[in-house]
Amino acid sequence: ATMPPLLAAMSTAGRHGVLVKNAVVLERLADTSVVALDKTGTVTAGRPVLEEVRLLGEAPLEHEQVLRLAGAAEYPSEHPLATAIVTASRQAKVTVTGASDFVSLPGRGVTATVDGHRVEVGTADRLAISGPAAQRARTVAHTMTDAGHTAVVVARDGVPVAVLGVRDVARPEAADALHRCTTLTRTPPLLLTGDNAAAAARVAASVGITDVRAGLLPEDKVAAVNELSQRGERVALVGDGVNDAPAMATAHTGIAMGQAGTDVALETADAVVVRDELHAIPTVIALARRARRLVI
Ligand code: ADP
Ligand code: MG
Repeated sequence: ATMPPLLAAMSTAGRHGVLVKNAVVLERLADTSVVALDKTGTVTAGRPVLEEVRLLGEAPLEHEQVLRLAGAAEYPSEHPLATAIVTASRQAKVTVTGASDFVSLPGRGVTATVDGHRVEVGTADRLAISGPAAQRARTVAHTMTDAGHTAVVVARDGVPVAVLGVRDVARPEAADALHRCTTLTRTPPLLLTGDNAAAAARVAASVGITDVRAGLLPEDKVAAVNELSQRGERVALVGDGVNDAPAMATAHTGIAMGQAGTDVALETADAVVVRDELHAIPTVIALARRARRLVI
């Protein structure tokens, strides 16, 4: 017996590494007019590496102390930046367990209590830090950012003690896969990221994306999707993080990167990329279109 075209397409998509939740999703994917992607973990492989630690303050902490505070505070986080920091802490033989009162602030960073101190780790522009040390932290962060790093500030009891520079490069197949998206939808893909503009621009340039929206909180990603929808676009939103889930739910279709994907993203998504590579995106859109032509 021959399978109905939509079912057959869902099965083919599965073989190409995309699990499509149901046939309705496949029809919606066929309508995609533009692909919007998250940066960290989506356009990048999401395996960032901590490359720089700049100590701040009048009486700087030891390098190991900073890795202790940051590693322990990040240990419960699922974010790729957290993984980079925890890995570096472990490599320095620093204990990363024992934090309490962990709070994750999507698009901003984390806070936790470590060794009796209130520790914040996150983006320089959105942390609750002030005073001359905060100004210095932001200056250092901007220098790192200009050098292509994602800069993350570590604060202890409200005082910045270090800036960490993390590097995350685009997936090797990203430029080709995104070019295929442009050919399919006739609209170039765009980047929606919570990271800073310089880091975003660098990754975007390396994969041929020109439309970049940076510094977005989860609700700003939703607003960006809504704005596109109001212009008549049918957005396929590809992401991996907790911060992407609301925008995924708002978009015409939400697609989660399975490997790096957080539970919230996987549950919210209409389709999940289980093979860890971006070619799955244009492939599933093309399959969806072909299936629809067979149905009509
Ligand atoms: P993206 O949209 O590119 O996936 P996010 O919205 O997840 O990025 O994060 C945006 C920014 O918030 C990061 O570049 C970082 O500065 C900060 N951030 C988010 N989560 C964390 C974390 N767990 N630790 C440190 N910084 C974080
Ligand atoms: Mg992400």
